[in-house]
Amino acid sequence: MKQWLTHWVENIAAPTVRVNTADGYRFAVYKHLIPGIGQHRIDKLEPEHIEKLYARMMENGKAAGTAHQAHRTARTALNEAVRRNHIVRNPATLAKAPRLDEEEIEPLTIEEVRRLLVAAAQRRNSARWALALALGLRQGEALGLKWYDVDLAAGRLIVRRNRLRPAWKHGCGGSCGRKPGHCLQRKNSRPETAETKSRAGRRTIGLLSQLAELLRDHQAEQDRERVAARQLWHDGTWLFADPTGHVLTREPTPSTGRIFSAPRRSETLGSTTRGTRPPRCC
Ligand SMILES: [Zn+2]
Repeated sequence: MKQWLTHWVENIAAPTVRVNTADGYRFAVYKHLIPGIGQHRIDKLEPEHIEKLYARMMENGKAAGTAHQAHRTARTALNEAVRRNHIVRNPATLAKAPRLDEEEIEPLTIEEVRRLLVAAAQRRNSARWALALALGLRQGEALGLKWYDVDLAAGRLIVRRNRLRPAWKHGCGGSCGRKPGHCLQRKNSRPETAETKSRAGRRTIGLLSQLAELLRDHQAEQDRERVAARQLWHDGTWLFADPTGHVLTREPTPSTGRIFSAPRRSETLGSTTRGTRPPRCC
């Protein structure tokens, strides 16, 4: 299995899917599938082996969503093996998928929201967390916003790009002995953002007056940072930037990791209205 999973993810899947999808596959393959079922011969793998892996993951405190991602990845990798006649049936299709229930998109409680906003207020760009919380933006969507996506006077905001995770490469030629992400001259080999996946992902959202007000304060804060940074300021027009104007990278949510799975609110305008995020299933 280890051999097939590695071949599949590196040579079959990764070159043909979006970078974030490939990241997800690699995470599932290297972090969970290879350690969990990598030692089995591909033609001897039974659904029960896979079910035990899911059970172990959940016992070790992994979220149902993580186990489900391992499940989808195993199923996709083994479908390809069936298609190529390496095996006659797909044990991952026969295995019972980990239950992915509504908890995955349970909204935060009022108390959690309050704690989160208090924790966020201590940070730079605190508006980023409030905005994401109020509008149900994914972290990558919030970080992908530029000022021209926002019309404070009209009270509107357009989500149309996604901040991609950086993929670091050595800038030193590989001689520093560190991992690429820790290379002092590291270079990002990926674009900073990608257009949002689908037409449904691209959407115009109405801003309540309190949110518009919050963003005006944020704008004033960024103006002060721009002045302070002087010639070091890089005008990337990012809504949420680092102290010298460069795009931000994702980071853990203050006090709770759950904010970005909160349901979308109904402030979305027109026909692009969405309710809760659909489960990422099948
Ligand atoms: Zn290096």
